[in-house]
Amino acid sequence: MNAPAFPPELDYPFPTVPTAPATQALAPGVHWLRLALPWALNHINLYLLDDGDGCTLVDTGLGDEASRALWDTLLAQWPRPITRIVVTHFHPDHIGNAAWLSTRCKAPVVMTMGEYLLAHVVHAQLPGFDTPTMQAHFREHGLDDERVEAQGARGNIYARGVPELPAQYERIVEGDVVRIDGHDWRVIVGTGHSPEHAALACESRGLLISGDMLLPRISTNVNAPASTPHDDSVGRFLASIRKFLPLPADTLVLPSHGLPFRGIATRVAQLEAHHAERDAQLLDVLEVPHTAADLLPVLFSRPLDRHQMMFALAEAIAHLNHLVATGRARRLHDAGGVIRFQAIPP
Ligand SMILES: [Zn+2]
Repeated sequence: MNAPAFPPELDYPFPTVPTAPATQALAPGVHWLRLALPWALNHINLYLLDDGDGCTLVDTGLGDEASRALWDTLLAQWPRPITRIVVTHFHPDHIGNAAWLSTRCKAPVVMTMGEYLLAHVVHAQLPGFDTPTMQAHFREHGLDDERVEAQGARGNIYARGVPELPAQYERIVEGDVVRIDGHDWRVIVGTGHSPEHAALACESRGLLISGDMLLPRISTNVNAPASTPHDDSVGRFLASIRKFLPLPADTLVLPSHGLPFRGIATRVAQLEAHHAERDAQLLDVLEVPHTAADLLPVLFSRPLDRHQMMFALAEAIAHLNHLVATGRARRLHDAGGVIRFQAIPP
C-alpha cells in the first residue's frame, strides 16, 4: 500500500490562543501575539522574535485605538526593546501601527518596495486607487447603482486603519536574508494577495512566517483591483504558494490569521483543490454569459456586508480573469460598457 504523498489533515500543535497583551511562546525566543480586528475576520497574529538585546516584530496590527492601547501595555512590560519591524504587506491590519511603533521604538521598518509604495498610493488615493476608479470598475462588472454608491460612501477606509505611514524603510527583495538572533530568515515573495508580499522562512529553525499567503482555514483573498483589472491574481497566488513546497515537511507555519500549523504540502494541495472547484463551479454557470456581480451568490453563500462586498467582488473578478488567462472563458463587452464572461467549450 502506498502512503499518501501528504498527510490529509493539518497539525495544530498550539491550539490555545493567547489573549493580548499576553503572548504565547511557540519556540525559544518566538512569541505569538494576537490582536483583535473589528471585522468578520476578527483577529491578526503578530510575532515577536528575540534578536540579541532587542527583538524583531513581524507585522503591527490595525492602527486603531484598541490595538494601540494594547501596544502601550505590552511595550511597558516587554523585556526587550523592539529594534526592527518587518511588515509582510501593505494591508491595514499588518502595517497599521508600523510608523507609530517605528517612531516610538526608533526601529526601522523593513518591507518590500511593492508593498511600501502601494501603501502610500492607496493612502493618498492616487489615480487608479481612488474611489471613482473603484466605482467605475465595479459598475463595469455589473454592480448595481445602489451598491456602487454604498462603496463610495465608505470614504478612505485605508487611512482610517493606517493613520500614518513610514517616510523611510529598509527594502527587502525575493531571496534576501534577514538575520534574526543569529539565524537566517529567507524572504519569499508572493503575489496575488498583494503586490510583493514577504514571507520569512528559517530552515535552520523549521519556521515559516507566512503572513497572509498561507492560512490554515480560510483561503487567502485574491483580487483584481481597479488599477489592474485583468490581473490573473489566482494564477499568481497559486504559483506563489508552490514556492513554500520545498521547505521541510515538519516546518511550523506561523500565519497571520488562524492557528500555527504543520502541513505545508497538505495546505497547498487543499488550496489548489479549492481553486479548481471554484473554476469548475463558475464554468458551469458561464455557459450563459454573466457579470462578476451576477456570480457573487455562486461564489459566496453567506450574506456580505459592505466591507466584505468589496473584497468579494474583486475576488469574483480575479476568478473570472483566471478563467480568461487560462483560455477557458472570454470577456464580452456590451454597448453599455458592462463586461460579461462566457465559458469557452473545451
Ligand atoms: Zn492581507
